[in-house]
Amino acid sequence: MKNFERIEQVVEWRLCTGCGACVLACPENNIRLADVPDRGIRPHVDTNRCKHCGECLKVCPGIEITHAPCTQAVIDELSLSWGPVLEMWEGYAADPEIRFEAGSGGAVTALALYCLDHEGFAGVLHTGAEPEAPLQNVPVFSKSKAELLARTGARYSPAAPCERFDLIEKSAEPCVFVGKPCDVVALRKSQAVRPQLIDKTGLAIAIFCAATPTTNGTNALLQAMDAPRDQVEELRYRGRGWPGLTTAKLRGKPAEARQLTYEQSWGNILSPHRQFRCRLCPDSTGEFADIACGDPWYRERKEDDPGRSLVLARTQKGREVLHRAMEAGYLKLEKAAPETLPASQKSLLRKRQNLYGRLLALRILRIPIPQYKGFSLAKNWMALSITDKLRSLAGTLKRALKRRWTKPLKPTRPPANAEKNPPT
Ligand SMILES: Cc1cc2nc3c(=O)[nH]c(=O)nc-3n(C[C@H](O)[C@H](O)[C@H](O)COP(=O)(O)OP(=O)(O)OC[C@H]3O[C@@H](n4cnc5c(N)ncnc54)[C@H](O)[C@@H]3O)c2cc1C
Ligand code: SF4
Ligand code: SF4
Repeated sequence: MKNFERIEQVVEWRLCTGCGACVLACPENNIRLADVPDRGIRPHVDTNRCKHCGECLKVCPGIEITHAPCTQAVIDELSLSWGPVLEMWEGYAADPEIRFEAGSGGAVTALALYCLDHEGFAGVLHTGAEPEAPLQNVPVFSKSKAELLARTGARYSPAAPCERFDLIEKSAEPCVFVGKPCDVVALRKSQAVRPQLIDKTGLAIAIFCAATPTTNGTNALLQAMDAPRDQVEELRYRGRGWPGLTTAKLRGKPAEARQLTYEQSWGNILSPHRQFRCRLCPDSTGEFADIACGDPWYRERKEDDPGRSLVLARTQKGREVLHRAMEAGYLKLEKAAPETLPASQKSLLRKRQNLYGRLLALRILRIPIPQYKGFSLAKNWMALSITDKLRSLAGTLKRALKRRWTKPLKPTRPPANAEKNPPT
């Protein structure tokens, strides 16, 4: 295991998830993010001003993730491959507008809105499209239903919501944080060194995540839709029904919308562009969140389906907020059987089971890998057949040599814009 001494090494060895947490962690305000089209959002450090204090590495989810021993009563059948799940529910946002606009059944947005309306929360730190540059994601701080609605739906492109944890810290009242599982790990690691972030994070919600495709993925998508980048006014990756169509709306052509199905968009075009670190991700279902939401893919999809969410209560706090949101009428949920989760997320289960073999292959090639504790990776690997075990090992060995993962990446140029993204 390599000891990382600089954040640049995390980037060079392809282990950055692009969460943005290191930006705020730097006491010298010396780290800037830039989107590298074939890699993802990446930090750039002004090496001349770096004092090598290592604060940035303390919050980085890319290189290390540790599960504390579980002390809660959890669903036993799920703990090996899915982490702590206290309760699992399936259903949707009671508000039909939220349900329709959202990526799945709108559970994330309905929960966030409930917290604003009834729990005295000040806002929601999450991700949305930059209004002036609609293909770019920015951290956003929503305070109303209209703002939350405008930011519904999965954005299958780089997003770094952790860059703006300061908005939570500065808030007078608690806030909701919504992010991918790696973003939530960055939140927990940041909380360990920034106590004010513990007090002000009232609820952490994770969305399930198979991988983040790079900006080149979005470019390929636009090309397939014959939608020139500079003419795109709005790009929805999914949502407005379940799972909804990928839709590009072009400027000056009000009625025109270029569309692809979910299978064409995610399956054929975007997923081959996933970030390297996502292949090594041990947590695709938000194991460190209070509540995690994903798709009930076990269901047969019907035309005009308004959408449903799988909702996992992962902490006691998450369970209590979830119950209050149901009682207040924001969510319509029914208890789901444990087998619903593996039946819905077959590829995520497969990834977890393959991970030990993948990491072993990289270790054999002396490629630096992240350190994971408490994920039962060896036990998960044992569930595979001998052929599949060998395949996970040999496949990664082959790919690593072919794609030259044995060599670190060359640094990219620092971002031209030295200012941080302003809050929106
Ligand atoms: C990169 C990516 C990979 C995904 N992979 C899976 C998967 O493997 N399995 C699965 O079931 N579902 C996956 N999803 C979809 C997502 O988990 C579900 O749509 C989830 O159920 C949320 O649905 P909802 O209707 O409750 O959310 P909504 O009410 O629509 O709210 C979505 C929330 O997610 C936030 N968000 C959107 N995109 C991003 C992003 N890129 N980074 C951080 N936050 C974001 C928004 O700000 C919003 O608050 C993925 C989504 C993304 C962005
Ligand atoms: S903290 Fe996040 S953005 Fe910074 S290097 Fe680590 S994974 Fe990348
Ligand atoms: S797969 Fe894992 S590392 Fe990649 S974006 Fe999703 S949560 Fe982060």
